[in-house]
Amino acid sequence: MKIITLLCLILLSPVISAQENTTMKKKENKTEEEWKQTLSPQQYYVLREKGTDRPGDGGYTKHFDKGTYHCAACDAQLFTSGSKYESHCGWPSFDDAIEGSVKYVSDKSNGMIRTEIICTNCDGHLGHIFDDGPADTTGKRYCVNTTSIRFEKSKL
Ligand SMILES: [Zn+2]
Repeated sequence: MKIITLLCLILLSPVISAQENTTMKKKENKTEEEWKQTLSPQQYYVLREKGTDRPGDGGYTKHFDKGTYHCAACDAQLFTSGSKYESHCGWPSFDDAIEGSVKYVSDKSNGMIRTEIICTNCDGHLGHIFDDGPADTTGKRYCVNTTSIRFEKSKL
């Protein structure tokens, strides 16, 4: 009897967890009001309202220390310093993202057709991706707002 119960539980558990997954909200599912409270006004503007940092050499644009770049909103790892390069576009640029960390969304705002990149974990706006990246690697340019990311120095 016990074995049957156990078997039922084992057989049912994937079903149960699958149901949980569909009803369960994302890991980071703050309301806009909660984001407003946790983020700075500039972070809220860029990450939640899809704003853009002013271009320039400040922030992480000319920052090339070894480490990882995390989402400024939810702390998910997004980029490594190994994929960062100087694109001279005025924003931090990467030729690749950590697998699965970034989602791609078609963006037709401002009269342009672009691909927006957002954090998989919290849907925070990061920037856009373009096809003019380094030809010797991926050919992609992940153009990212300094405000959307936070650098963590490598401990090695
Ligand atoms: Zn995030």
